[in-house]
Amino acid sequence: MYTNKFFIWVAFMGFFFSCSEHDEVETIPVKFPGVDPELREYFQRFEDEAAARGLPVDLTVSAITGTILKIDGEHVLGRCSFPRAQPNQVIIDQSFWMLGTDLFREFVVFHELGHCYLFRPHLEDRLSNGACASIMRSGNGPCLDNYSQRTRRFYIDELLDHQPGVLSASR
Ligand SMILES: [Zn+2]
Repeated sequence: MYTNKFFIWVAFMGFFFSCSEHDEVETIPVKFPGVDPELREYFQRFEDEAAARGLPVDLTVSAITGTILKIDGEHVLGRCSFPRAQPNQVIIDQSFWMLGTDLFREFVVFHELGHCYLFRPHLEDRLSNGACASIMRSGNGPCLDNYSQRTRRFYIDELLDHQPGVLSASR
């Protein structure tokens, strides 16, 4: 009996202390709890860009997770996986993340959300100037990346011009 009570007390204390440790940073509910804090800004931007186009996107409700990890495989900057019975997972390569510019990070996170949230497959189409028609290009196709401050609006329009769940899932 004593042992049980003691255990409960200790467990309660542990709970109490672990809560108060985080009080300072967690008084405001975190918007994307399953997403690495460094990625949250880009998840937020994705929502904002969608909202600006009249599309309601709630990545907190979708519960898509976001992680920065070392990804094996050359030139693989990000990945979206669709585990069974769990929310989809965006994984961004750590070495890329450390070196990537803000714009390039946005490009990669938006590409992965294109898979994980919009369920878009790759699209290798080219514009007349040879540039990729979509940021959903695989990177192994013939088109040339041309994502810049000047072109991002065009590419985000193209990205979001698809309703979630309409297209079948593909990596
Ligand atoms: Zn992809």
